[in-house]
Amino acid sequence: KLHNQVQEAKGNIRVFCRCRPLSKSEVKAGCASVIDFDAAKDGELGLLSNGSTKKTFKFDRVYTPKDDQADVFADAAPMAISVLDGYNLCIFAYGQTGTGKTFTMEGTEMNRGVNYRTLEELYKIANERTETFTYNISVSVLEVYNEQIRDLLAVETSKKLEIKQASEGFHHIPGIVEAKVENIQQVWNVLQAGSSARAVGSNNVNEHSSRSHCMLCIMVRAKNLITGECTKSKLWLVDLAGSERLAKTDVQGDRLKEAQNINRSLSALGDVISALANKSSHIPYRNSKLTHLLQDSLGGDSKTLMFVQISPSDQDISETLSSLNFATRVR
Ligand code: ADP
Ligand code: MG
Repeated sequence: KLHNQVQEAKGNIRVFCRCRPLSKSEVKAGCASVIDFDAAKDGELGLLSNGSTKKTFKFDRVYTPKDDQADVFADAAPMAISVLDGYNLCIFAYGQTGTGKTFTMEGTEMNRGVNYRTLEELYKIANERTETFTYNISVSVLEVYNEQIRDLLAVETSKKLEIKQASEGFHHIPGIVEAKVENIQQVWNVLQAGSSARAVGSNNVNEHSSRSHCMLCIMVRAKNLITGECTKSKLWLVDLAGSERLAKTDVQGDRLKEAQNINRSLSALGDVISALANKSSHIPYRNSKLTHLLQDSLGGDSKTLMFVQISPSDQDISETLSSLNFATRVR
């Protein structure tokens, strides 16, 4: 494995915090920003109350509402492209609904996010290395909703999918579609196909997507043409379900089940990452489908990057505080 600049003495978990701008409607409603970015360059962020800094948080990076998709990707890229050097990785966006998780990961046609930019970079580098490596890159897109896995690239998306462990320890999902994307032009189409399949069977697309985890798996099979060595590695790019607590009065029936499943899987993710950070002897991967799926890419010599997404608005301060605390716990 090549030396990688991301792998420093500090360990393999990075946390980047990104704050979206105040929305037009928030400005209209007179909402104020409660985030202090004075020390953002040093990775520090302050949470204000009554105009003075109440609490400060430290991260590997802090992005202000002015930082764009390219700024964010510039910092994530060294880690993301190390999948070509045989590393397993996991990059995910955590936060309350409406804070920019999908914007960061998926982005928009004009403002493409980490998913597209990563694939673009992978193809570019793979093409520069054709004399020493052959790379085979494939893409799977799936959703975890109520602890069930759904293949978003399959024609028959209702098929039940299970996680299996191969003899060499690698986790995989038998029957999942692995799209062999030949070139970058096809990538955006595949990503869009996955994204629109999320809508199928739900009457409110945004509501549904805020209650499920959307997971993109980039599988890289590499052959070193000089040594003959073959490696298989994967990069998970995950847009998590919204972390907000629902009001008790809203939570009944199906909503209650959804809320419990989200709660359980996000706590399981926090438990796994903090167990890894604390070098605990037991890592509880099996407590949720989410962590079970990510098992190969969390821990060992794999690398993890978490975007904690926050709102600047005074109205969201309690959810913001809870997201910042979650992120601090895993760091
Ligand atoms: P989430 O996926 O966390 O629910 P979204 O990604 O859907 O949130 O973002 C909510 C809204 O805020 C969208 O309209 C999105 O375009 C906008 N938004 C989020 N982050 C940014 C940002 N950094 N800059 C500009 N607009 C943003
Ligand atoms: Mg979203």
